[in-house]
Amino acid sequence: GDRLICALAKILADEFGSDHVSRFSQDHFAVVSEEEGLDERLERVFEACRNANGGRTLPVSVGIYRHSTEEVGVSVACDRAKYACDTRRGSYVSGYRYFDLEMHRHVELIRHVIGHLDQAIEEGWVKVYYQPIVRAVNGRVCDEEALSRWIDPERGFLSPADFIPALEDAGLIYKLDLYVLDKILEKMKLQKGYGLTVVPHSVNLSRSDFDACDIVEEIRRRVDASGFSRDMITIEITESIIGSDFDFMKEQVERVQALGFPVWMDDFGSGYSSLDFLQSIQFDLLKFDMSFMRRLDEGENGKIILTELMQMATALGVDTICEGVETAEQVRFLQGIGCSKLQGYYYCKPIPLEDIVERYRSSIQIGYENPDEADYFEAIGKVNLYDLGAVAVDDQDSLLNIFNTLPMGIAEVTADGIACVRDNESFRDFMGRYFENDLDDSDFMARVRDCGEGGGRSVFEQRLHDGANAHFMLRRIKENQVTGASAVAIAVISISSANEGATYASIARALAADYYNIYYVDLDTELFIEYSSPVGGQELSVERHGRDFFGEARNVASVRIHDQDVGAFLERFTKENVVRELDESGAFLATYRLSDNGIYMATTMKISRMEPDAHHIIIGISVKDAPGA
Ligand code: C2E
Ligand code: MG
Ligand code: MG
Repeated sequence: GDRLICALAKILADEFGSDHVSRFSQDHFAVVSEEEGLDERLERVFEACRNANGGRTLPVSVGIYRHSTEEVGVSVACDRAKYACDTRRGSYVSGYRYFDLEMHRHVELIRHVIGHLDQAIEEGWVKVYYQPIVRAVNGRVCDEEALSRWIDPERGFLSPADFIPALEDAGLIYKLDLYVLDKILEKMKLQKGYGLTVVPHSVNLSRSDFDACDIVEEIRRRVDASGFSRDMITIEITESIIGSDFDFMKEQVERVQALGFPVWMDDFGSGYSSLDFLQSIQFDLLKFDMSFMRRLDEGENGKIILTELMQMATALGVDTICEGVETAEQVRFLQGIGCSKLQGYYYCKPIPLEDIVERYRSSIQIGYENPDEADYFEAIGKVNLYDLGAVAVDDQDSLLNIFNTLPMGIAEVTADGIACVRDNESFRDFMGRYFENDLDDSDFMARVRDCGEGGGRSVFEQRLHDGANAHFMLRRIKENQVTGASAVAIAVISISSANEGATYASIARALAADYYNIYYVDLDTELFIEYSSPVGGQELSVERHGRDFFGEARNVASVRIHDQDVGAFLERFTKENVVRELDESGAFLATYRLSDNGIYMATTMKISRMEPDAHHIIIGISVKDAPGA
């Protein structure tokens, strides 16, 4: 390194003359030169540097300030050249850049901001705007974020992108951030004074806040003096500053949390930091960067990535927000994947306190969530509606394939009725198909109500109007301490074929009164299902699934049918004969005496086709003298 710096010094001195070269520090040099022929001179310098580096590229960045731009002192001229040079930061080829008018304006702005911060705060040029954060489950404001604006009497509206980095670099941002906190506390006090609901407010901190003063202690002191509890002030820290100085930031985050302030990670997913930090720092919430919303509109991949990250956060027990939400489609999607809170122009832009008051006056303010209900809504928000692992999925119930995910939803049970508060796409699909109108008086809804009122979990089966059978699982999530409502998670864990069921179930129901054994047989494969019902009862239950229906039935027949009847029965009861008789007369009827534990009973077997389905037959066995019949 030392040799390289010496070599560079010699190259510059050779090119420009040693009277015109000096070194600032490290590998930073300053040169004064005529403008004429400068391009060629610099090319020669770059070439010489490459040679000094053994022929390999050695990137050299040069910034140039033209003295003709404006008469300034040497030190300002050097600063401006350095500024132009720094704009090449991150470039890996040698090159140069002139200080231009735009840079000039920007440098001026930075100088202005740094020079006027105290005045801007004192005279109210700096204003605090608030953006509501809305709970996905109930559409109510559960938090507000404070964002600062600088409305300059000379220069007009400055965006944070202009003044925040300048104040950060100058190590002055702590003044702004503590001012923002003061304003927040004032606002909360005001709202409380009017008897309005006060939700937690979040404040953004920068890296240099932690260097300039003991920011954590400053915040604690102010919040404690205000009388508000510490969990009413949330600290937002952006992902990039965590990555820049991991150990230090981990310590700070834990310190803040130990005092009782929630800490959120802002702009999650915007940088390239590894996911490792999620393991070592337990944030209270991840705020997904708004770039996720932009990518959502670009295609499937964006959806998959966001869904998986959301699941990961939920699994880690970390709450979630998406920022930059602008459309109703985005809201629907985020509700489905279990994003807990939403922030963006779809709901409201950041606005000053006067506008919040005005919105109240004209009754267009989004209502606040009662903080005492926050736990309840948080629990509802956290249930992952895409979690297939939560309930066992039986592969046999292949009709599940018609849904891309298990239909899952959350219903709220109140004295007045039952309403769906969250669902996924397939649940909407399912409910639309099966429960269009008569939700409230269905048997299903009665079960949901029982679960909501009684708690715990239950699994039950329900026949749907088209004959399909669905298995449901219900689980009570939480009770709302304020309203007494309770939330019940509903998962449709299996659906039997609606096709089969449509014809089968209706026939079976009609038959169930007369038959105590019913077989449903696929003529092609001879796979079958055996059902039984108590004689005279309406309910059928699946006894078992089996294969080789005719073979098995003939075996049972040869053992249990009376000696005098068995010969004739076996002769007739083959697959070929059954099919032929069905074709000829539409039915197959047989009577015989069947032994049940040594007692013979007059038994009738009736076989019919599952019209219009030619591949299935249904076989009913009825017993005349059955005990209890
Ligand atoms: P942030 O904390 O991530 O704030 C969110 C930014 O997104 C805000 O920009 C907000 O106005 C904007 N935004 C909100 N919803 C939408 C939307 O739906 N669409 C789009 N396109 N944008 C939306 P803003 O106010 O310009 O602030 C920029 C950044 O400056 C903030 O990012 C924050 O990191 C920083 N900042 C703002 N105020 C302060 C402050 O008082 N102190 C510190 N240290 N940083 C601040
Ligand atoms: Mg923020
Ligand atoms: Mg952000």
